[in-house]
Amino acid sequence: MKSRREFIKLGAIGSAALLTQTACAADDKLDNIETITTDKTAAIKPIVLSTWNHGIDANKAAWEILSQNGTALDAVEQGVRVTESDPDNQSVGLGGLPDRDGNVTLDACIMDHNSNCGAVAFLKEIENPISVARKVMEDTPHVMLAGEGALEFALEKGFTKTNLLTEKSKEAWQNWLKESEYQPQINSENHDTIGMIAIDENGNLAGACTTSGMAYKLHGRVGDSPIIGAGLFVDNEIGAACATGVGEAVIRTAGSAIVVELMRHGKSPQEACEEAVARIMSKHKDLTNMQVGFIALNKQGEYGCHSVYAGFNIAVRHNDFEDMVDAEYELEW
Ligand code: ASP
Repeated sequence: MKSRREFIKLGAIGSAALLTQTACAADDKLDNIETITTDKTAAIKPIVLSTWNHGIDANKAAWEILSQNGTALDAVEQGVRVTESDPDNQSVGLGGLPDRDGNVTLDACIMDHNSNCGAVAFLKEIENPISVARKVMEDTPHVMLAGEGALEFALEKGFTKTNLLTEKSKEAWQNWLKESEYQPQINSENHDTIGMIAIDENGNLAGACTTSGMAYKLHGRVGDSPIIGAGLFVDNEIGAACATGVGEAVIRTAGSAIVVELMRHGKSPQEACEEAVARIMSKHKDLTNMQVGFIALNKQGEYGCHSVYAGFNIAVRHNDFEDMVDAEYELEW
């Protein structure tokens, strides 16, 4: 394993912390970098983390809220809506790659600092499933609505239908059909959820996770992303975690809940992500294309990220830092 876990331990805001984080992406310079010890009294807040490159723009929207004393809940919702509404992003919301029958079906969930949560699964024709998930959380006694029921609920709440299948995604699907023999397959290109976790000025945590799921999946397939405890988990006493990658593997291991539990038992966010990745690897004999990445944030604003394969990165934003950070990983492709 490429192990440089110290440098994601953030306990102080300032140049040392900035240097340390920047170093995540510059492995060869790390030997000269001092390890920063956690100072539990100096929590970094606000702070927001998101999965993958699309997280940079999503974090910007979240930061507008967080930097003006807004809530982490509003920040994560508004943040991931940016990605959902981007037609060029083919793994989330509008423009997402469809299932093998050409339907774009979306999964999303949201969770706040009071352990309130809401989710939608297998939702069609709604551009911002995260906001429907929030309505499920706030306006119903339930946690998850799926399929037709979720769509009816969204329409009742004033959301409007949109054709989510863009020309670009339709073309990609039609090309896939030619070679695929209609067999869903996992590969590194066909998924990339946005998961976002944040702490606000008041020290409250929230998270959001939204995806069009695995491209060319079986019609009706739902991954980890809308499942509280799998794709996302928040416990305001401890921290928050989010997953991306092969949802089936994350569900099997209760991924995000495990990361938060590991933090509860004293692991740093980085150590917790590493152990969750190790768990995924030990439970799957065949790791071919089994990419999974976790991000985690604790109450002190320390964060971590780790993945099975190389290539996972996260967008981080707080008062002194705005950039991508490469995750450490276990396997090369
Ligand atoms: N986890 C998502 C799913 O399995 C996909 C992804 O994160 O890339 O639906």
